[in-house]
Amino acid sequence: MSDVSVEAERLIRVMPETLANKIAAGEVVQRPASALKEVLENAIDAGAGDVEVILKSSGSELIQVVDDGCGMGREDARACFRRHATSKITSIDDLERIRTLGFRGEALASIASVAQVELRTKRTADDVGYCVRVEGGEIITSEPCATKDGTSIAVKNLFYNVPARRNFMKTPATELRHLVETFQSIALSNPSIAFRLVHDGMDMYRLPAEQEEDFGDALEGRLHALFGAEYEDRLVRVGEQTSYLSVEGFVGEPELHKRGRGEQFLFVNGRHVRNRSLEHAVFTSFEDLIPEGSYPFFAIFLSLDPSRVDVNVHPSKAEVKFDDERGIYNFLKSIVRKGLGSAMLTPQISADTDRWSFPAEGAPFTPSRHGEGAGTTSGPFPGQGEPTGPMGPRSEQLYRTPEASRRPDGDEKVGGDDTLLWQLHERYILTQIRSGLMILDQNAAHERILYERALHHIDDGVGMSQQLLFPQTVEFAPGDFELLKELLADLRALGFDVETFGGRSVVVRGVPSDIRSGDERSILDDILSQYKLNRERLKVPSKENLAKSLARRSAIRPGTRLAAREMRSLIDQLFACEMPYACPNGRPTMIKIPIEELDKRFSR
Ligand code: ADP
Ligand code: MG
Repeated sequence: MSDVSVEAERLIRVMPETLANKIAAGEVVQRPASALKEVLENAIDAGAGDVEVILKSSGSELIQVVDDGCGMGREDARACFRRHATSKITSIDDLERIRTLGFRGEALASIASVAQVELRTKRTADDVGYCVRVEGGEIITSEPCATKDGTSIAVKNLFYNVPARRNFMKTPATELRHLVETFQSIALSNPSIAFRLVHDGMDMYRLPAEQEEDFGDALEGRLHALFGAEYEDRLVRVGEQTSYLSVEGFVGEPELHKRGRGEQFLFVNGRHVRNRSLEHAVFTSFEDLIPEGSYPFFAIFLSLDPSRVDVNVHPSKAEVKFDDERGIYNFLKSIVRKGLGSAMLTPQISADTDRWSFPAEGAPFTPSRHGEGAGTTSGPFPGQGEPTGPMGPRSEQLYRTPEASRRPDGDEKVGGDDTLLWQLHERYILTQIRSGLMILDQNAAHERILYERALHHIDDGVGMSQQLLFPQTVEFAPGDFELLKELLADLRALGFDVETFGGRSVVVRGVPSDIRSGDERSILDDILSQYKLNRERLKVPSKENLAKSLARRSAIRPGTRLAAREMRSLIDQLFACEMPYACPNGRPTMIKIPIEELDKRFSR
C-alpha cells in the first residue's frame, strides 16, 4: 500500500510553464478569430486611437495588430508573455469592477505557446523600442529596436506546433468570416477609434474615427461605415436609461433580416458577448416581422454596474451571467418593441396637421387606440354589419390631407371622396403619405387586424357573436372532435356559440361577428384544419394558433373590391394594432416608397 502512495507522490509534478500555457491555449485560443480578439482587445486597453489589422491566409499565416497605444517598456515586453502577467488588476477587489477588456493575463502567454509571435513596442517617453520573439512559448530573442510609438504584435503560423488543432480549423472562408465578425464587433464597440483591416494585401475595411460625442451618433456612423449603404435608413435606434441599466444601440428594420446569427452584436459594458437569452429577447420583439429561420440585425450595448454582471465565467470572456437576467430580458424586449413601433415603417397620424406623418426618429410611438375592441363596433366587411360612418368624425379628417383639398386629382380618386386612396387590382391599397407612397396588402392587413382582435377575445372572452337564423349541426371525425373539445372554451371566447351534441356532433348557434355570412357551416371545419396544419408546421402555442387560423380563414381575400370607406376603416384598424406592419405569418402588410426613391427612378 505504502508503495503505491510513494509512487503516486512521484507522479505529480508541477508542469513546466510552457506546457501549462499550451493547455490553457486550448481554452483561450480556439481559432484564429479568438487570437485576433485578444490582441485587438489589448490594443483597445492600451488606449489606441488607430488600429490596423493585417491578416494573411485567413489568419493561419499571420494575424498582426498594430496600435498607437501606450506601448511597453523593456521589462513588460518580456513579462507580458508570462502566464497571469497583467497590468490590469492587482487585487481581488479589482475583479469586482473590471473596466478593461482583458484581465486574466493569460492571452499572450497562451497565444505565444501555440504560435510564433513577434512583438515590437515602444512607449513615447522611451528613446528606443523593444522587439521580442517568442516561439512555442519560449523567448527566442529580445533586443532593442527602432519602432514607432505603440505596439505591433504579429502572430505567425498559429497552431504550428499543435497539428491536431491546425487540422481542426475550418475552411479558410469560415475562419475569415469569424475573423471579420471579431473585427466588426470590436470596431462597433469603439467607434471613436480608427480601424483598418487588410487581408492578403487587400483593404477590407477602412473605418475613420467617428467624432461625435454622443455614443449613439458615433455608433450610427460606424455602422454605416462598416455595413454600407444597405443599412442606411434601415436602422432603428433603441435606448433607455434607468438607474440600474442603460441600453443603447440599433436594430435593423425587419427587411434587413439575415439568414444567420452572424450580425447580432450584443455588448455588455463594452464587451462583445453571446447570450442566448438576451438575443432571444431581441428576436421575439421581431416576432412575425421577419420570415422563419432568419434573424434580425442588431448592435445593442448594455451598461450596468460591473458588480451585477459576471464576465469571468469562461476564459474567452464571451459569456456573461447577470444577477437579474429575467428583468434585463423583459426590459430589453420592451425597448426593442418600442423602438420598432416608432420606426419609420409606422406612419403616425398627427392631429395638428391633419395628415399622416412619420414620427421623428427616436420619438415614442403611441398607437392610436380608437380602433381598439373593434369587434364590438361594426366594421366594413361582410358579416360585420353595415359600417356606421366608418371612422367617425375624427378619423374621417385624418385621410383628407391639405394637399388633397387644394388640388384634387379627380381621376385617381376612389368613391368620389376627396381622399387619396386607390385600390389596385382589387388587392392593394395605395395611399399618399407625407414621405411618399404607401402600399398596403388588403389581405395581409386584415389578417393582422383579425389576429390581434382574436387574441384579445381569447384572453378576455368578449368576442361578439352573431346568432344564426338556423342553428347548424356539424358532425366531426373522431380526432377533430377531440380537438374541438379541447378548444371549446377558447372558441366560445372568440364568439362561437357552440355546444357538443350526441355522438361527435356539435350544434352551432352563433359565430364570431367577424366572419363572413354564408360560411357558418364550413368555418369550424376550416379553422380546425388550419389549426392542425399550423400545429405541425409552426409549433405555435394554441391560442396564437387558433387566432391565426381564424384570421387566415376570415380575412378579406385578394380580389375583393373595397369601397373607399372600407379601405379607410381597414387602414385605421391596422394602425390601431400593436404590430401593424406584418401579418401573423410574417408577410408585410405594407411597404412605403419614399418620394426620393421615385425621384431617383425618374432620374431627377
Ligand atoms: P490581459 O489583457 O488579460 O492583462 P494579456 O496576456 O492579453 O493579458 O496581456 C498581458 C499584458 O501585456 C497586459 O496586461 C498589458 O500590460 C500588456 N500588453 C499586451 N498587449 C499590449 C498592447 N497592445 N499595448 C500595451 N500593453 C500591452
Ligand atoms: Mg488581453
